[in-house]
Amino acid sequence: MSHVSPLPFYTRARQALADPQLQTALDRATPRMVTARRQAIATIPDGEAARDHARLVRAHTIAHLDRYLTQFVDAARANGTHVHFATDAAEATRLVVDIARRHEARRVVKGKSMVSEEIELNAALEAAGMRVVETDLGEYVIQLDHDVPSHIIAPIIHKTKEQVAATFRRELGASEAEVADIPQMTAFARRMLRAEFLAADLGISGVNFAVADSGSLCLVENEGNGRLSTTVPRVHVALMGIERIVPTAADLAVSLRVLARSGTGQALTVYTNVITGPRREGDPDGPSELHVVIVDNGRSQMLRTELEEILYCIRCGACLNVCPVYQEIGGHAYGSVYPGPVGAVYTPGAFGLEPWADLPQASSLCGACKDACPVRIDIPRMLLALRARAEEGGHTPRWVGDGLRLFRFMATRPRLFRIASSIARRVSGWAGPRGFDRLPGPLAGWTRHRHFPPMAAETFTERRRRRTRT
Ligand code: SF4
Repeated sequence: MSHVSPLPFYTRARQALADPQLQTALDRATPRMVTARRQAIATIPDGEAARDHARLVRAHTIAHLDRYLTQFVDAARANGTHVHFATDAAEATRLVVDIARRHEARRVVKGKSMVSEEIELNAALEAAGMRVVETDLGEYVIQLDHDVPSHIIAPIIHKTKEQVAATFRRELGASEAEVADIPQMTAFARRMLRAEFLAADLGISGVNFAVADSGSLCLVENEGNGRLSTTVPRVHVALMGIERIVPTAADLAVSLRVLARSGTGQALTVYTNVITGPRREGDPDGPSELHVVIVDNGRSQMLRTELEEILYCIRCGACLNVCPVYQEIGGHAYGSVYPGPVGAVYTPGAFGLEPWADLPQASSLCGACKDACPVRIDIPRMLLALRARAEEGGHTPRWVGDGLRLFRFMATRPRLFRIASSIARRVSGWAGPRGFDRLPGPLAGWTRHRHFPPMAAETFTERRRRRTRT
């Protein structure tokens, strides 16, 4: 993945904290998205039950993924869709480049697709001599800026509108009037992109959900670019992760009910596209060929493990918006296509702990992500599981493992634990009522921004004994 930065996570986080434009952009966007989500979920009379139902659908589907994948493939082929499987990023890009070459495609338009980011598809298509244009407005700006997205659904959340205006002036020669405000900038981008849609030979899209019993693909979006990318070019290639399946159209409705509300605070996105096969005889539009590339790329190795639950994710982005860590550092500091709490589990789970062992540490374990998640994914539990894996695999500093082993040794020997805590209490008493201003060695990070408080004069057990006696 190209997004891996050679810098350690803590360096990237410090850089993000010191970037005033990023801080302005995050301060403007994340509180608005958190409020929008809360208000939108509150409009469903049975909001909590709807989340339970959506979780049930995800849990059931992932538990029977093999069956539903097979059913989807059979139904999609019966509709005339070509279905391909890719075990990794290299195979997925090869498949798409081959399809494009077979059709002598020179110009490609793309709707938003996280999988295409994950497998670095643009670079592969460009290396094969094709012109690729992102058509989601945020992704378009990212492409013009040679940047990478920093949010699952809001790729340019890290940019201010002033920065976008500067990009349009610099890269596209936009006039001051054309970038005067957001509606003007949107209209300008729309004019530029319209010509790209009309000239494209191949359209590429992601897939929000694939319906097993009908072989249909569902794409949700707000700009209409997804609809144009999938209907105007003569060939459409859709990329999806193996976990994007729902069993039936009724299950799709359950998932859509919570997706947009959790992501953008809308009841539904402006466009909900359901595509069932390529153009049929007599159809006024649509591609003459439809291909679906189903990508594994590390997903199946999480099945039947303590990380399986992350595959329930419907990519709404709500956990990013509420996360106190993401709110401060944004997405780039995570270094992965999938940032925030979901990415802190997904990235090391799918792509390996090396070089992602820092990500599960990037959390205070406050649980805000689990509270906001429309399918109630227990991210904190999986972060702890990954921290344990990191420790066992030697991915954490040695003092952490040694310290935990020492703590376990004492905590499982009550007499020793009592003696050690009494010594610790006495030592902590030396620091006075405020506690320690500075701790030594690797513990210094704790006191960089706060005090280490003194220990209570009496332990819980002592207090309980005293109370029982009186
Ligand atoms: S983990 Fe939950 S909240 Fe986060 S993106 Fe996935 S579905 Fe949304």
